[in-house]
Amino acid sequence: MKVKNFLPVRKRLFVGLLGVSILAAGMLFVGIWYLALHPSRSVFDQVLLLALAGMLVGGLVMAAFGIGGIVLTILYARDITALHGPIRVAVSIFFPIVLVIGRIFNIDKDRIKRSFIEVNNDLVKSKALKLRPSEVLLLVPHCLQQSDCPYKITINIDNCRRCGGCDVSALLDLRDKYGINVGVATGGTLARKFVQEYRPRAIVAIACERDLTSGIQDSSPIPVLGVTNERPNGPCFNTRINISKVEKAICFFVKEKSSVTKKRLPVMGLTAGEKVRH
Ligand code: SF4
Repeated sequence: MKVKNFLPVRKRLFVGLLGVSILAAGMLFVGIWYLALHPSRSVFDQVLLLALAGMLVGGLVMAAFGIGGIVLTILYARDITALHGPIRVAVSIFFPIVLVIGRIFNIDKDRIKRSFIEVNNDLVKSKALKLRPSEVLLLVPHCLQQSDCPYKITINIDNCRRCGGCDVSALLDLRDKYGINVGVATGGTLARKFVQEYRPRAIVAIACERDLTSGIQDSSPIPVLGVTNERPNGPCFNTRINISKVEKAICFFVKEKSSVTKKRLPVMGLTAGEKVRH
């Protein structure tokens, strides 16, 4: 079995902070235990505190297995089914604490979220998935569209005239090449609507660190490969995406190109290479 040397630096940040969070929760447990056993406490207080300590220790044990599961999965690049539950508990319960600990140590929130996205992507890639194109959903943020493009894609992505003025045309080419479903989301509500509509078995999501982090957690247990967008013009405005990273993520889920090409709208009034006039 092939083992990586150690967790790459960017992944270490999230896993390390997760470990510190569990340690902090462990110290809280010791504090509660000490208070519960203090002779000045009434029996009622003691029972209450011991019940709290019991719940905390349950969460801690699960989280400790979870963090072990994350590290082993990444190191051995193997999915460990038995540890799915603990990993989910560790991430969902301890993620907010990870962010608080990060703030205490003055670590940029986006850096922590990027590290989490990489850890998540490794966990997803450890699974042996071979899906049909129709089972894969590509979620695209609307801010990828050139802001002055008159062909609004939020209602229908096929309104795009594929002028090449932004990355939407290349994403449509990927959709046609692989036959996957695509949804343009203006936010979490619309993203959830696409998930309900297409019922995907896997998602490739493009978004900023904040939206990807919440989207990955909201979509659980559906595996999500996250690709962070580039924001050369600031947040949520004329953003860009590395198309080859998106294609690699699609190819992880879909092993074969679609034999059925998705229908395309005729490109009205445009010849090849001609740009939309904005
Ligand atoms: S028509 Fe051009 S600018 Fe408008 S969304 Fe499509 S590729 Fe982007």
